[in-house]
Amino acid sequence: MPEPSSLSLTSDLIDYINRSPSPYHAVSETRRRLLDAGFSQLDERESWNLKPGGRAFVIRAGGTIAAFITGTLGPEESGVLMIGAHTDSPNLRVKPLPDIKNHGYVQVGVETYGGLLRSTWMDRDLSIAGRVATSKGDIHLVRFDSPLCRISNVAIHLNRTVNTDGLKLNPQKHLIPTLGLDHEDEDGLRGLLARRLNEEGINAEADTLTGLELCLYDTQAGTLGGADNEFINTARLDNLASCHAALTALLDSGEATEHTRMIVLYDHEEVGSQSQAGAKGRFVLHLLERIAHVYGDVTPENQARTAARSLLVSADMAHAVHPNYSDKHDQQHLPKMGQGPVIKINVNQSYATDAVGTAFFEKACQTCGFSAQRFVSRNDMGCGSTIGPISAARIGIRTVDVGNPMLSMHSCRETAGTGDVAKMIAVMTHILRAGNVPPPEA
Ligand SMILES: [Zn+2]
Repeated sequence: MPEPSSLSLTSDLIDYINRSPSPYHAVSETRRRLLDAGFSQLDERESWNLKPGGRAFVIRAGGTIAAFITGTLGPEESGVLMIGAHTDSPNLRVKPLPDIKNHGYVQVGVETYGGLLRSTWMDRDLSIAGRVATSKGDIHLVRFDSPLCRISNVAIHLNRTVNTDGLKLNPQKHLIPTLGLDHEDEDGLRGLLARRLNEEGINAEADTLTGLELCLYDTQAGTLGGADNEFINTARLDNLASCHAALTALLDSGEATEHTRMIVLYDHEEVGSQSQAGAKGRFVLHLLERIAHVYGDVTPENQARTAARSLLVSADMAHAVHPNYSDKHDQQHLPKMGQGPVIKINVNQSYATDAVGTAFFEKACQTCGFSAQRFVSRNDMGCGSTIGPISAARIGIRTVDVGNPMLSMHSCRETAGTGDVAKMIAVMTHILRAGNVPPPEA
């Protein structure tokens, strides 16, 4: 039975995910929680009046957000403790000209985003959420709550070999959601969007909705599952569970310390991170420079000293051993649900963790009263990657890749362990508070 503290944090996680059907909604929910906790929003265009011990956050391109508490000492003396995660999940995205009419049906043209498990999107009650940019220059979050659309499987009578040959889905032909029946008088998806915005009190006309960044999402809310509520069943655990843990840890990490504490929740991880908002961009480097200004002149020397005194915990979900597919794991490295955070290691640097980082994270876990698990992939199977190695190379700081164990990664509906939520938050909170970054030559 999960502990009561774990259950309340888990229901808060489910609430966070339910409120975040798109990366833009995840940023909006994160922003709401930061504002509630007294953080102030900074505008990248303006000059910032930060002070030591200040609490602030910055949003980049709608889907990336960084929040920080500046230290009482300059970062070249005390370093920056960072936690990174990502706000995006594999899904279906609406195409720019989405209205399709086909055999009496109205459908929505979609692109696949990231490495989604296609079959899991079939026969689910889907809806649409994201943001729209208008020709008047404003941007609005938009979300439909009702099950607007569905991608129907073809009946087994018309696909007799599906159970022996597997379900093969061509993403251009077979993943097109149906929005309704063709009534001739419809004004398309933009008409629906305009009506939805008007319901929210936003004056919008269909022909002004020029830019669309819209995700399909499953309307079934997240829930606890299993005989003893051991499981969390919901969409987007990868990687909103890590975003929620990082945010909760920062908010729990107390008064300002000597070192600066920061969380960065990036968009575009699932598609390689190469964007203005992604981990391959200069977002964090800009932030570190601007934070350094609080304490005096920024020089190349003190920027290098800051990097050498800093550490990033890159948090992304890990593969728990699957009872029906346990041979997919190296038999010495079988992360189990409910048994705590997983340190992810790959000698070919698909994960950035080194020996010193491993020891650092394990010690932090033990201080919190539990151990970390270990993951390496089989030699004959590929290994996923994440923002860890990208950030380690880009910023030049020691990075530890970690994550909570889960099943069904990249499914429309995933599963993780209730008992792991509080542990990850506890170790992140401890790391943000404690500092004690090992020296770079170690
Ligand atoms: Zn991920």
